[in-house]
Amino acid sequence: MIRLRDVHKAYRSGKNVVEVLRGVDLDIGRGEMVAVMGSSGSGKSTLMNVVGLLDGYDSGTYHLDDSLISKLSETRAAKLRSRYIGFVFQSFHLVAFKTAAENVALPLYYQGVGRRRRMAAAHEYLDRVGLADRASHLPSELSGGQKQRVAIARALVADPKIVLADEPTGALDTKTSYEVMELLASVHEDGRTLVVVTHEPDIAAMTERIIHLRDGRVENRAATPEAALDPSHLGPSSAPAAAGAAV
Ligand code: ADP
Ligand code: MG
Repeated sequence: MIRLRDVHKAYRSGKNVVEVLRGVDLDIGRGEMVAVMGSSGSGKSTLMNVVGLLDGYDSGTYHLDDSLISKLSETRAAKLRSRYIGFVFQSFHLVAFKTAAENVALPLYYQGVGRRRRMAAAHEYLDRVGLADRASHLPSELSGGQKQRVAIARALVADPKIVLADEPTGALDTKTSYEVMELLASVHEDGRTLVVVTHEPDIAAMTERIIHLRDGRVENRAATPEAALDPSHLGPSSAPAAAGAAV
């Protein structure tokens, strides 16, 4: 369902050109749960933004469900995105002045769903992530793990086919990370395609397949989730993000 061929992308600012994706070939099938690993700055977030239709690419081809994605207008991209993709970010990206339920309901607001229906859906998804009793709390009144659960509910509320999670456990302690991964795994068991960017080998090991980004390309190594636990693969910048954030 996701197919990239020889995808290149560079960032330009003035005379500076940073080539980030340098010929990415990538296939992710419907219903797969994969991890994307690579050192900091290797282009993982850039790749997720391209796959998630948040950003374009310079050359190559990206097919999403057999449709070639190229030079989408922002309106068209937003439409496709809201139908296909749910995002989860390391820093949650919740709107600070909206309650948990209002945050979860936001994607439906952008789809033009009326308030009553979208709030009902928001409560249903908050219930699914175990936070029914926090619906009227503001993000500042929630722990990190709870915020990420709200973000996962928000990613799911519009029933996307693909969930992209960019370091979803990067700001969480180990126990909370595992709880969040269990929740994401249940998302995958519902038949959704799930892509999890992570620095952490134990998190990657919870997926079915690991994609390694290196020097702007997908490394062609036979990777099993177990192999990710072998520290000899890891470069110096692959250390897990600092744990110990508030739960
Ligand atoms: P990762 O998520 O693997 O840490 P990123 O995709 O965020 O890597 O970044 C890859 C490289 O692209 C880095 O060198 C980063 O500084 C650069 N980069 C990312 N986003 C931008 C941007 N909007 N403008 C310029 N450079 C960027
Ligand atoms: Mg990143």
